[in-house]
Amino acid sequence: MEKRVLVLNLDHSPVAVVSAQKAIVLTLLEKATMLSTYELLQIRTISRSFEYPAVIRLNQYKSIPYRGVMLNRANLFRRDNGECQYCGSVKHLTIDHVVPRSKGGKTSWTNLVTACNRCNVNKGNKTPEEAGMPLKILPFKPTLSYFLADYAERHAEEWLPFLNVKVVPG
Ligand SMILES: [Zn+2]
Repeated sequence: MEKRVLVLNLDHSPVAVVSAQKAIVLTLLEKATMLSTYELLQIRTISRSFEYPAVIRLNQYKSIPYRGVMLNRANLFRRDNGECQYCGSVKHLTIDHVVPRSKGGKTSWTNLVTACNRCNVNKGNKTPEEAGMPLKILPFKPTLSYFLADYAERHAEEWLPFLNVKVVPG
């Protein structure tokens, strides 16, 4: 798999993930500075070879509207480590509204959890308190850094010193 490059803003907040080719073009144009490389990798062209960038920083501050992490099934399962938040099962997963929709529960990061089919059915139209099914952790809204750290742990340890992982409550 081709390694990806973490792009930091001038203030070192993460803004994007790009291909190595794009990162090299940005550094050659002096729009970005290389902060970290994948040591054992190189990028070769016919005439020369380049260090393989792992983290670059933009040379000018870019004002980027905060988009957050998209709320969808895959990202929700990822936030919850692919485990039912009631019993810990990793099979037959679905999405549960903590406060049921019929009781005004919203479709939001803080009211949705990963649940197995069985817990979802057992809980039915109740809140966790009413059903006597406490949650393992309170659902939270993940930040971009949270997902980047998750990716970094599996594929790009070079990013970790540059990621400041925070969990935003509520
Ligand atoms: Zn379960």
